[in-house]
Amino acid sequence: MSKNNNKTTGKKGAVGKNPDAANWRWATRQVRGGTNRSQFGETSEAMYLNSGYVYTSAEEAAARFAGDSDGFVYSRFSNPTVSMFEERMMLLEGAEAARGTATGMAAVTSALLCYLSAGDHIVAARALFGSCRYIVDTLCPRFGIEFTLVDGRDNQAWQDAVRPNTKMFFLETPANPTLDIVDIKAVADIAHNIDALLVVDNAFASPVLQRPMEYGADIVCYSATKNIDGQGRVLGGCVLASEEFVEEYLGNFMRQTGPSLSPFNAWTLLKSLETLDLRVRQMCCNAQAIAIALSDNDHFETVLYPGLPSHPQHDLAMKQMEMGGSIITLHMKGGKEEAFRFANGLSIVDYSNNLGDAKSLICHPATTTHQRLEEEMRIESGIYPGTLRLSIGLEDPQDLIEDMLQSLSRM
Ligand SMILES: *Cc1c(COP(=O)(O)O)cnc(C)c1O
Repeated sequence: MSKNNNKTTGKKGAVGKNPDAANWRWATRQVRGGTNRSQFGETSEAMYLNSGYVYTSAEEAAARFAGDSDGFVYSRFSNPTVSMFEERMMLLEGAEAARGTATGMAAVTSALLCYLSAGDHIVAARALFGSCRYIVDTLCPRFGIEFTLVDGRDNQAWQDAVRPNTKMFFLETPANPTLDIVDIKAVADIAHNIDALLVVDNAFASPVLQRPMEYGADIVCYSATKNIDGQGRVLGGCVLASEEFVEEYLGNFMRQTGPSLSPFNAWTLLKSLETLDLRVRQMCCNAQAIAIALSDNDHFETVLYPGLPSHPQHDLAMKQMEMGGSIITLHMKGGKEEAFRFANGLSIVDYSNNLGDAKSLICHPATTTHQRLEEEMRIESGIYPGTLRLSIGLEDPQDLIEDMLQSLSRM
């Protein structure tokens, strides 16, 4: 699957690699990739819940700090459990290198700010998760980094936004919560023509459904809090990139600024990865069935789901993604009032702004995740007063359909 998975990460304290892993198929990688057993031979990966490391001598410590000797130095830099998670993520993505981060936002912030400097320019899709948009339109300009927001679905808009100082392109696909699909290959080609890097936030699809590097993305970010944990327990994130990017930019940025992944969370995420494809595929099947069941209901202006032919970019979605994902976006005819009534009337689906969870969740982006934006900017980004984001979990889809129909019938 990957061209690059034989390479080493070149990082200090890298775990011992199983050279066979490069030949394993995806499911084997997600269960066994990166596992590095201690002298006790534990079956499941060990949790190394420690901040520091001891050295046999002052000379050894000096050699490790100088980079002349391999081994761990401090868990802000690297940790055996975190390294196992990073190694497994690299194998799943087909990336040369990875860094685990404390949250998905730590991943996005680090990927952008480790590379961009005052005077540079970033082009990003307008439809972004609220905090991702904050990084681009508020934080970057504070440090002299220019930005342009474009309609990510329009390839020409990406091209037209290019300036002589454009260094990065950033997008989500499918986007949160509009489910806009961006043509990763087309945008990667535009970026590479001007030697810019393409960063893709792949939180919605997960590496099960979409591996952006196969379409030319240079850097992939995850909120591991979402599908990767998938059980509402821990925060986490990951940046995947070339060895060169991690060595020259990301590694040192993270080492000095400290958005590191906790070993406890890395351990939880390692356990989650073992079942990632089973969970994500089942959630997609459930979401597809629910999207079909809701499609002809009169209360909805649109039922957006990338797996349905009615999604305006269904063909592109199916070219890049193996299945439609676990998120359905509903635009209710009756605006905010009706959206609130529908959400409040649900008895199985919980109201929560998390997503990618085994439990189905619903939220109203305009008053939660995208509240920060002005109404006009929200509408321009495809978030209306009647928009609801529905994250489908692992319950029986028939129970979820009945729950939604009972809430609709009482409106
Ligand atoms: C949730 C989310 C994030 C942020 O992840 P956290 O783990 O909550 O920090 C970033 N991007 C997208 C697309 C998300 O859905």
